[in-house]
Amino acid sequence: RWTEALTRRDKDDLRCPVVCILGHVDTGKTKLLDKIRRTNVQDREAGGITQQIGATYIPADAIRDRTKRLQDTEPFDIKVPGLLVIDTPGHESFNNLRSRGSGLCDIGILVVDIMHGLEPQTIESLNLLKMRKTPFVVALNKVDRLYSWKEDPEAPIRDSFAQQNKDVKREFKERMDKANLTFAENGMNTALYYENPDVRSYLNVVPTSAHTGEGIPDMLQILCKLTQERMHEKLMYVDEVQCTVLEVKMVEGLGTTIDVILINGVLREGMTVVLTGLNGPVVTTIRALVTPQPMRELRVKSAYVHHKEIRAAQGIKIVAPNLETVIAGTQMYVQTPEDDLDELKDEVNTEMQDVLSRMDKS
Ligand code: GDP
Repeated sequence: RWTEALTRRDKDDLRCPVVCILGHVDTGKTKLLDKIRRTNVQDREAGGITQQIGATYIPADAIRDRTKRLQDTEPFDIKVPGLLVIDTPGHESFNNLRSRGSGLCDIGILVVDIMHGLEPQTIESLNLLKMRKTPFVVALNKVDRLYSWKEDPEAPIRDSFAQQNKDVKREFKERMDKANLTFAENGMNTALYYENPDVRSYLNVVPTSAHTGEGIPDMLQILCKLTQERMHEKLMYVDEVQCTVLEVKMVEGLGTTIDVILINGVLREGMTVVLTGLNGPVVTTIRALVTPQPMRELRVKSAYVHHKEIRAAQGIKIVAPNLETVIAGTQMYVQTPEDDLDELKDEVNTEMQDVLSRMDKS
């Protein structure tokens, strides 16, 4: 089945990379996410940025638009269809994603407050990313707080730096050096992304401000660049469903639902799926696949749009019977005609063992 799926892959048919934001509390994760998704509040939907279940979709066009100035000096071809950014920043949600093997995130943004340097949860997040072998970029955030910073809203970071006086530049360098040193003490080499001598051995650092939006074009560009250049294989669209449960939620009128991120493949109404439940595998049938009503359609009665089928990568709410015991952070499997249901259940049981052993450890 896997080989069949492989042969159907097309190198020009890529899915969206899934991006997670993590780091210490108060470093600006939420603010950064806000700024990334809501620069043009008025024509947010015109720019195609859409709110999904548990995630925000930023299409390539919106990224092209946001990186215009950067493209003048550094032309760059976006090959991914966009970025899917998970909405719950912070490491709890990430930590709870227990799924074995394939993690939820293709790439992470580790946010560090430039005024505070590395903090305890920064190190925790760092270790988590390392453990999961998830590539990541460091956002050295709050650069606008450097003393006497002159802001240039939404500017590429090098343009901003060019306008700063020498004291700001010196303070930045001191803080950057300190961050480099602490990362090195934690076993990681880091470098300003545009001075990075070797992306294979140095983590990219992007200075940002979630208040002014400076550095965000750089961040978007580098996320596209790293994913499309270095994760091409992983991002090829396949028929094989890869799907992670984010949350189990009771919704009035719909009953118990699960919010999932469909990482790859396609989901259809009526599919039989197998999930990890507290009391063993849950086998059920997808009754409805829904996404939020677009912003401008808020007058419509229903909060959701129904879909017959949905293609990855997307954040989706699934309505189905018997979801009450499903454990968040686990994988959802789809039964295809070739699949033996018992084998899928075994798969789920192994995942359950994994969840239990992690609970024991923590
Ligand atoms: P989180 O806990 O990591 O999600 O942090 P928040 O996004 O809630 O930000 C924590 C505080 O830092 C808030 O008061 C934000 O307004 C502030 N903040 C976040 N990013 C920036 C930034 O780039 N510059 C400045 N000056 N303040 C920021």
